[in-house]
Amino acid sequence: SKQSVYEPLTESAAIALAVRLRLFPEGAPLVCREIGDGNLNLVFHIVNQQTGKGIIIKQALPYAKVVGESWPLTLKRAAIESNALRTFASYVPEYVPKVYYSDESLAITVMEDLSHLQIARKGLIEGKTYPLLSQHIGEYVAKTLFYTSDFGMNQQEKKQLAQSFVNPELCKITEDLVFTDPFFDHETNNFEDELREDVKELWNNDELHLEVAKLKRKFLTEGDALIHGDLHTGSIFASDEETKVIDPEFAFYGPFGFDLGQFFANLLLNALSRPEQEQEPLFAHVEKTWEVFANVFSDLWEQHNVEPYAKTPRLLQDVLHSTFVDAIGFAGCEVIRRTIGLAHVADLDGIEDKEERIRAKRHALRLGRSLILQRNSLNDIQEIRSLFLQAP
Ligand code: ADP
Ligand code: MG
Ligand code: MG
Ligand code: MG
Repeated sequence: SKQSVYEPLTESAAIALAVRLRLFPEGAPLVCREIGDGNLNLVFHIVNQQTGKGIIIKQALPYAKVVGESWPLTLKRAAIESNALRTFASYVPEYVPKVYYSDESLAITVMEDLSHLQIARKGLIEGKTYPLLSQHIGEYVAKTLFYTSDFGMNQQEKKQLAQSFVNPELCKITEDLVFTDPFFDHETNNFEDELREDVKELWNNDELHLEVAKLKRKFLTEGDALIHGDLHTGSIFASDEETKVIDPEFAFYGPFGFDLGQFFANLLLNALSRPEQEQEPLFAHVEKTWEVFANVFSDLWEQHNVEPYAKTPRLLQDVLHSTFVDAIGFAGCEVIRRTIGLAHVADLDGIEDKEERIRAKRHALRLGRSLILQRNSLNDIQEIRSLFLQAP
């Protein structure tokens, strides 16, 4: 596309762009609303009032606005996002929005309007259970990981692909906010005074520091596959029938277990916000996601593995086992950082009764710590449920 100079779009400029790109029939009556949360990116929803048909234009801003301060953040993440959406669409078109157009210099991605679905975090908070969510996410993760790994694609081409997804600035956000700051007395942390003693225990726990350092090292160094990098329930649109994964601006070549870990953690954070008798569907989703992931990944391994060692006894089991252990550790880090770090989740912060909220957050901190410290001794995914129940 022709070189354009970056400038943040307004609602009317977004309409003009859609018209120029001929995304709607000539003369269609268009309305536009900016619907993003406004922290990192603008999201414009443009609708043809005659047909009701819409599109989304997502545009990166050159900074991240966080609690009053702002820091510069690369616009390149928009190209990472549109390229990741296209790459994932080649393996799992049913689980990602279609990309209609992208422009690296404007830092925009024009994509399918998913307004008929709901952000899974919001739905889960309202008590929805999304019966197919774990089936779909298990399949999405298995296919995207397998096909972008050294087992599922030409190993020379994989190195080229990995090069196009080098994403240091967004990775640093995760390195700091997920793996570092919450485990030290850092100014980005944010938690209620009532939690201070519990938090100090995490800051002074050498055994925990050792295990988090090992997990952080994996995130820094292991380039298994093209991962989404931000697979929380706010990055998933869902209904009872459909599931779509959006927002892969953190995508890079990272460890197999990371996306699963973040997804598990956000299911568990929702369970932490619910009364005991309503937690079961969340545990069932964690278990089913792992089962589907392991089955689909194993089938792909049997049928499409390009690595000469593919048929070596126990290699698949070894890969699945380390993915499982890492996912549980990553989940523990995510549960902790969403409780005391910079970016919280509405599941916990939305608990109105203060005592109840503090109790749930203490439970979260104990669960996170157990997931990290005991990840190597879990025999199967069902044991997450026992960890959860043992750490009230
Ligand atoms: P950010 O990277 O700023 O978090 P997201 O991609 O998560 O941006 O989008 C922010 C919000 O914009 C979503 O929570 C959703 O409400 C809306 N949105 C994003 N993409 C779409 C889409 N394809 N269709 C409909 N709404 C969308
Ligand atoms: Mg957002
Ligand atoms: Mg988002
Ligand atoms: Mg994002």
